[in-house]
Amino acid sequence: MTHPTYPHLLEPLTLGAGPDALTLRNRVVMGSMHTGLEDHPWDIDKLSEFFAERARGGVGLIITGGYAPTKRGWLKPFASEMTNRLHAMRHQRVTGAVHEAGGAIALQVLHAGRYGYHPLSQSASDKKSPITPFKPHAMSSKEVDHTATAFAKSVSLARKAGYDAVEIMGSEGYLINQFLAARTNDRDDQWGGSAARRMHFPVEVVRRSRELVGDDFPIVYRISLLDLVEGGQTWEETAELALHLEAAGVTVFNTGIGWHEARVPTIITQVPRGAWRSYTARLKQVVEVPVCASNRINTPELAEDIIASGDADLVSMARPLLADPAFVAKAMDERADEINTCIACNQACLDHVFSNERASCLVNPRACHETELVLTPTMRKQTVAVVGAGPAGLAAATSAAERGFAVTLFEASPELGGQFRLAMAVPGKEDFADTLRYFTRRLEVLGVDVRLSTRATPDDLAVFDQVVVATGVEPRMPEIPGIDHPSVASYADVLSGRVVPGKRVAVIGAGGIGVDVSVFLTHEPEDLDDWMAHWGVGDPALHEGGLTEAKPRTPAREVTLIQRKTTPIGIGLGKTSGWAHRAVLKQSKVTMVSGATYDRIDDQGVHVIVDGTPRVVACDTVVVCAGQDSVRGLYDVLDHRSAHLIGGADVAAELDAKRAIKQGTEVVAGL
Ligand code: NAP
Ligand code: SF4
Repeated sequence: MTHPTYPHLLEPLTLGAGPDALTLRNRVVMGSMHTGLEDHPWDIDKLSEFFAERARGGVGLIITGGYAPTKRGWLKPFASEMTNRLHAMRHQRVTGAVHEAGGAIALQVLHAGRYGYHPLSQSASDKKSPITPFKPHAMSSKEVDHTATAFAKSVSLARKAGYDAVEIMGSEGYLINQFLAARTNDRDDQWGGSAARRMHFPVEVVRRSRELVGDDFPIVYRISLLDLVEGGQTWEETAELALHLEAAGVTVFNTGIGWHEARVPTIITQVPRGAWRSYTARLKQVVEVPVCASNRINTPELAEDIIASGDADLVSMARPLLADPAFVAKAMDERADEINTCIACNQACLDHVFSNERASCLVNPRACHETELVLTPTMRKQTVAVVGAGPAGLAAATSAAERGFAVTLFEASPELGGQFRLAMAVPGKEDFADTLRYFTRRLEVLGVDVRLSTRATPDDLAVFDQVVVATGVEPRMPEIPGIDHPSVASYADVLSGRVVPGKRVAVIGAGGIGVDVSVFLTHEPEDLDDWMAHWGVGDPALHEGGLTEAKPRTPAREVTLIQRKTTPIGIGLGKTSGWAHRAVLKQSKVTMVSGATYDRIDDQGVHVIVDGTPRVVACDTVVVCAGQDSVRGLYDVLDHRSAHLIGGADVAAELDAKRAIKQGTEVVAGL
C-alpha cells in the first residue's frame, strides 16, 4: 500500500535481476560510515548488533564501513579488510544478524590509497596528500592490475559472506579518485596519461567484479559528482565515467561530494540541507540505472522531496541513522516528530573516527555501544526528579522515563534547552532546534511531569527516591578591571537577543563559543547560491573539480577575537569541522589576537598587552566568552546518597552537549 506521507521514499525498489536480484523494502540507504568497530575481529558482535538495530528500525539497505581489498589499501595499520575466506566466514555473523532483523546489507570495498595512515600506503603517484603524513608508493602497472583484481576478489568474498550487495568506493578522494584526477595521476602507462586512460582503473575494478559475481549480484558504485579540489574531474569526465561504469556492470550509483582534502565543507551543519541534490539530478540525466542522493539529508520530508521531484531514486543517510536507528520506522508510523535528528555536528562520529576512537553520536550515545549502554526496564518503580532541562537533564529525564521510572523534570526558566538553546541562534547551527523538538516530544510521549518556571527546593525533592541534578552552568565573568563597564555583555546576553551589540565588537575568549559568537556577529543571511559562491563552488562543466574563485563576504560587524593562549585561534575545535569554522572567520575578516594579557576595559574598548606592547581593541561592545562556572548550590545542600550530579553542574570545564547527554544517559542506565 502506498504510504500517505512518504509515498516515494517508502516505495520498494528492486536492484538487479535474476536469482540475486535484491528487493529493498524502501528507498532509504544507510550510507557507509566507518565506526571503528570494523577494525577488530573481537568487535564483530557489537558491529552486528549496531547494524541489526538499524535493520529492525526499517532501513532499506545498510552499507558497511570501508573494507580494504589489500593490506596496502588499509585506512590505518591493521584496519578492516576483506581479503580471505576467514574474513568472509566471520562476516556471516553480521549478515546473519541483519537478515534475521529483516534487513539487507552491502559491504563497502574501499582502498584508501594515499589517505592510508600508514607507511605502506600506495597511490597512482607518489604525491603526498595534504591531510596525511605518509608519502605513498607510486604503484607499478602490475600492482595496479593486481589491485583491480583484488577489488573483484573482495566483492566475491562479500557475496560468500552473505552480503546482499557491494559498494565500490569511488569518491571522497580515495584510491579510485586518485586514479581519476590529473591532480594525483601523472602516469604515462595504460592507467593514466589522458582522461580516458585515467578511467581505466575503476572500469576494470567493476568489470572484473562483475565477471566474478555473475550478472545479477547488485554492485553499487559510489561516484564523486564534485571533487572540490584543484585538478579534479570535469563534469564531462564524470558523465563519461558513469556511462563506462554502467556498461561494465554497475547496478546503482551512490554519490559523493568532495575529497577529504577539499576545503569546502560538504556535510557539517553550516552546509544547507539538500545542498548537493542538483548534482545527483544531473547524473540521473546521464545514466539508466538508479541513482542515490547523499550528503546533508537528515529528514524524511527532504528525502521524500528529493525522490518525488525526480532528483534521485534512493537517498543515503549515514549519520541520521546513527542518531536514530528507528528513523524509517518512525516515518512509516507517521511519528517523524519523534525522530532524533542528526544535527551534522560530527562531534561524536567523524571526530572520533579521525581521532582513532570508536564512533558514537552526540544526540544518541548508544550508537555503536548498543550492547554496552542498555536502558533496561526497571524492576523497582521508583520516583525520579531531574533538576535542570539542559541537554544533560533532558537525556536523564527521557532515559529514566524510558526505563519505567516515574519522572518529574524541574526547570527554573520558562523553556527547555539550557545552553543548547543559545547554540541554535548561531548561523549554521539551526538544526540544533531539532534536538530540542525531539526531547520535547519525547517527554510528552513518555509522560514526564515537566514543571517549567519552577525552581526546585530541597523540600520539593525530599519526596523523590532519586534526584538527578543537572543545574548546568553560568557564563564566567573574568576579573578584568572594568568588566562591569556598560559595554560588556556575556555570550548568553548576545545569543539570546537580550543585548544587541554595536558595529565594532571585541570578543574575549576564543573557545568554541567565542568562535560561534564571532560568526553570529559577522554573518549576513545567505541563500544556497550565496553559500556556494562564498565557498567558491562553481559549475563542474566549466571549472575542474567544481572549484572557482570564492566571492568575498561582507561582514555585518567589525569583530576582534582575543585569547590569552599563543596557539592559533580555534585550534581546539572539532577535528573535522574546526577548519571550516576557522575559514569562515577568515572570510568574515575577523581580526585575531593571540597571546594577549587583559589590562582593563573602558570607554575606548579593551586594553591588552601583546608581546609586551600595550594596545587598545577599540569597540562599542565587549562580548565575554570566557567559559563557564558550574551551578551547584542545590546539590551542595542535598542528601548525596540519592542525588546524582551530571553535566555542567558536575564539571563546567570543556562542557559540551556530547558529554552532557552521554552522562545523563549513563547515570540513569546505572540506577
Ligand atoms: P572554552 O572552550 O573553555 O573556551 C573559553 C575560552 O575563554 C578559553 O579557551 C580561554 O582561552 C578563555 N578564558 C577562560 N578563562 C578566562 C579568564 N578568566 N579570562 C579570560 N579568558 C578566559 O569554553 P567555551 O567557548 O565556552 O565552550 C564551552 C564548550 O562548548 C567547550 O567544550 C566547547 O568545545 C564546546 N563548544 C564547541 C563548539 C565547536 O566545536 N564548534 C562550539 C561551541 C561550544 P584563553 O585562556 O586562551 O584566553
Ligand atoms: Fe549527527 Fe552529530 Fe550524531 Fe554525528 S555526532 S551522527 S553529526 S548528531
